[in-house]
Amino acid sequence: MFESLSDRLSGIFDKLTGRGALSENDVNEAMREIRRALIEADVALPVVRSFTDKVRNRAVGAEVVKSITPGQMVVKIVHDQLVEMLGGDSVGGGIDLNAPAPVAIMMVGLQGSGKTTTTSKIARRLTQRDKRKVLMASLDTRRPAAQEQLKVLGEQNGVDTLPIIEGQGPVEIAKRAMTAARLGGYDVVMLDTAGRIHIDEPLMVEMAEVKAAANPHEILLVADALTGQDAVNLAQSFDERVGITGIALTRMDGDGRGGAALSMQAVTGKPVKLIGTGEKSDALEDFYPKRIADRILGMGDIVSLVEKAAEAIDAEKAAKMAARMQKGHFDLDDLAEQLRQMEKMGGMSGMMGMLPGVGKMKKQIEAANIDDKVFKRQVAIISSMTKQERSKPDILKASRKKRIAAGSGVDVAEVNKLLKMHRQMADMMKMMGKKKGMLGKLMGGL
Ligand code: GDP
Repeated sequence: MFESLSDRLSGIFDKLTGRGALSENDVNEAMREIRRALIEADVALPVVRSFTDKVRNRAVGAEVVKSITPGQMVVKIVHDQLVEMLGGDSVGGGIDLNAPAPVAIMMVGLQGSGKTTTTSKIARRLTQRDKRKVLMASLDTRRPAAQEQLKVLGEQNGVDTLPIIEGQGPVEIAKRAMTAARLGGYDVVMLDTAGRIHIDEPLMVEMAEVKAAANPHEILLVADALTGQDAVNLAQSFDERVGITGIALTRMDGDGRGGAALSMQAVTGKPVKLIGTGEKSDALEDFYPKRIADRILGMGDIVSLVEKAAEAIDAEKAAKMAARMQKGHFDLDDLAEQLRQMEKMGGMSGMMGMLPGVGKMKKQIEAANIDDKVFKRQVAIISSMTKQERSKPDILKASRKKRIAAGSGVDVAEVNKLLKMHRQMADMMKMMGKKKGMLGKLMGGL
């Protein structure tokens, strides 16, 4: 799984992480190689493009702390972007059973994708690991022996199957399964639907009917990872016609490239929830974006090193700023830094949310139009200034202000407002700096 991509990336990173400094050329070269590696891994082109763009943007603006090398920082950025591409920290972790019992799980997909195998793998795991009472039913009335196949798998894995009644159609079977589950006190019903060689209209109609009859909580598309981008297109079609809640990718044991797994979420907006990693009945894994990213990069130690160092950044910065303020320095760069920090904390509403009993005030703040965009706008104004202007705001006369306003998309009045705010804050800092030690005490002795 992901072996070839993993090898390629570790080669690229070995070149980067050893160096003390990185030139823009080094980063660009690495990005080109990452791009190539992703394309070779069969990741969808638009996904590759957006991935490398985001990594490049973040790498350029990244703050590098003393204790780590720029190359290590790039590894961390690529890691985080991989997690995001796979759906973020909050997705993953397998099937969602958070609904009143019996919870119906409908399995859909093409013939031969591994639908029946995956159905019984999931049922086995829910039974053995999660101690759920599971009923499986095959709705495949087209392929001879399909219902029989599921029955045998059920017997092998200690999972009940719905008794077979010849001549019933898929919708009837689905309804019977739900009734049997209700009466029998089952927690979960797994509905293994019929597949086809290709998507066709009758199949989609049948899926919609079964869905209406069973009201499933999860509709999982089973797709063969070896088919790469075809699997991604298939997921899109199924989602448009039937609506799916997630994807189970089979044959990940045979896919060293991983393109389908890597593009699925970004293209379809639906998460990969499970991966099949072999023919055996226990070869099933939950899909966690972070774990997968760790596995692809194989650089977990660097990632956690950078995470720890990043925590130190804020403390380092606060100390530096306090020292400057103590000397009475507070230029527009310092102000921008403070605004960025405020924004990081979730803006005005985020900070207010942390204080108890400010629910009512929140409304007033909103009414006064102090919305979170203000911080962003103010930072944008400062970013439109030259280095000299930021350190010596006094040189800002009418024509410069006009240029800055145009550059940041605001009125000159807003530039003036920001400058006034800065002046007041700077005056206050100077005053406090003179009263020796007072600022130090205020800032916790920094
Ligand atoms: P269905 O037609 O979609 O129900 O497909 P089946 O469940 O009958 O599976 C077709 C074949 O794929 C069987 O031989 C399975 O053993 C095999 N298979 C299913 N999942 C995996 C997997 O994750 N890895 C591997 N290597 N084989 C799998």
